Amino acid sequence: MQQTRRQFLRAASGFAVSCSLLPHIALGRQETRTRIILLGTKGGPRVGEAGRSNPSTLILINDVPYLIDCGYGTSRQLITANVALNRLRYIFITHHHSDHNLEFGPLLYNAWITGIPARIDAYGPRGLAKMSADFFNYLKFDIDTRMVDEGRPDPRKLVTVHEFAKPGVVLTNDEVKVTSCRVRHPPITQAYAYRFDATDRSVVISGDTAYSPELAEFAKGADVLVHEVMYMPGVDALVSRLPNAKRLREHLMAAHTLPEDVGRVAARAGVKTLVLSHFVPGDDASITDDQWSEGVRKHFNGRVIVGKDLLEI
Ligand SMILES: [Zn+2]
Ligand SMILES: [Zn+2]
Repeated sequence: MQQTRRQFLRAASGFAVSCSLLPHIALGRQETRTRIILLGTKGGPRVGEAGRSNPSTLILINDVPYLIDCGYGTSRQLITANVALNRLRYIFITHHHSDHNLEFGPLLYNAWITGIPARIDAYGPRGLAKMSADFFNYLKFDIDTRMVDEGRPDPRKLVTVHEFAKPGVVLTNDEVKVTSCRVRHPPITQAYAYRFDATDRSVVISGDTAYSPELAEFAKGADVLVHEVMYMPGVDALVSRLPNAKRLREHLMAAHTLPEDVGRVAARAGVKTLVLSHFVPGDDASITDDQWSEGVRKHFNGRVIVGKDLLEI
């Protein structure tokens, strides 16, 4: 009787998680399930006029969120993806350009105000701890007021920041091993890609990078590579509209990857699926999916997905 009730409860909670888990639960075993959701796919800090939100990628492993980067709009995109902010658990920052960390502090705040029941662990290059402390100072008046007035816990104690300055193992738990690889993103030297090896799937997130053969090595045999991409005719159209944009073009050329080179990296890594994200420029609707992927396909024969906000892979 007791056994049956436990089985029922397990099945019932499984149903709440995902209907597709049911066949496994019925057999008495629950398999790992790793999902990838692109939250924001527009490269760069400018808030786009339409379409894509600023960079952020979510990996759900057995329904536990692992968030990579926090561009502007990440809180809203998480909610739209049906991830309540009080479920936040792990955050990874690839580098300290603002399109990747602008909403880091506000997201911590939003998780706290939603009533986060567990701790948050945040991982990233040096500077992340100070950024977190500075953000909580910025909102000190509000936080101190609400702690007394609303009886809330101290948000500074909910967040543990783990900084690193060289590549290696970032996190290991029962569900996943996370490692980092340094990528080429001048003038920033502390720029990283992350690899998530779960039991069912391995996923690599490139972060921002120029063509990096070492990233191909790092991504060897991964199921999914989410790679940034830059389309030069679109960049030229963009800079022609901006004053003093000569430096911007030079920066973009040195720091990001053209479609052909994304294809080279994916082919060399031998990944099954390549997902394009962090589009530069990210809000030029005249660039078609075929234009984004054409150069890639010259070198890579696997599955290519031109990313969209909230797309699940
Ligand atoms: Zn970026
Ligand atoms: Zn960057």
